[in-house]
Amino acid sequence: MADFISLLYPRVCINCNKGLTKNEEHLCLSCELSLPKSQHLTNKAELLKKFAFQPKVTDAYVFLDYIKDGIVQKLIHKLKYDGKQELGVWMGIRFGNEIASIINQSIDLILPIPLHVKRQRIRGYNQSDRIAEGMQEVLASNLANDVVIRQKETATQTRKRKLSRWENMRSVFKVIDPEAVKKKNILIVDDVITTGATLGVFCDELAKHDPESLTIAAVAAGK
Ligand SMILES: [Zn+2]
Repeated sequence: MADFISLLYPRVCINCNKGLTKNEEHLCLSCELSLPKSQHLTNKAELLKKFAFQPKVTDAYVFLDYIKDGIVQKLIHKLKYDGKQELGVWMGIRFGNEIASIINQSIDLILPIPLHVKRQRIRGYNQSDRIAEGMQEVLASNLANDVVIRQKETATQTRKRKLSRWENMRSVFKVIDPEAVKKKNILIVDDVITTGATLGVFCDELAKHDPESLTIAAVAAGK
């Protein structure tokens, strides 16, 4: 039966369309080895500057470089817009393995960045939940997606004026379970860092509830 299904839906590499072997998943081995690892995995200083306004942020990691029309863009696109949820877990496991060998503090709680309820209903899932699940497999920390909610959609905010945009961003997220956050070392999981503004307001909202530390982990970011 499995062979029959694979005849109908041949498993091919997302990047180069080559047929996959039994041991390969989503990407062929040579495409997987060609994934552009971010310099922010090992050199965090530059990335941390983006979040310098929030002293609770002590660490920040990015797994891959997001390059237009590149392999990482293809992966993220499949994950977000093509229903490939399992790709999030796959990337999360790989990202988790990278972090596990370099992280210098224990993580008590993993928090994926939530989607607005309306958007999640349309997509059917939150891609950051899937990434966080993969990371949890490796890091063996608690994972929660009911501690923070997203109260506002932010997609249209780019059209607004700068000041009102900031005002608009301020209350995007709300911690609904403050006890879960208190004194915890928290790993925040996101898919792509663009400006960092969304992550920034997320960290600010968490910081109101006295976490011990905040570590940012995004699968991809522009170079
Ligand atoms: Zn390939």
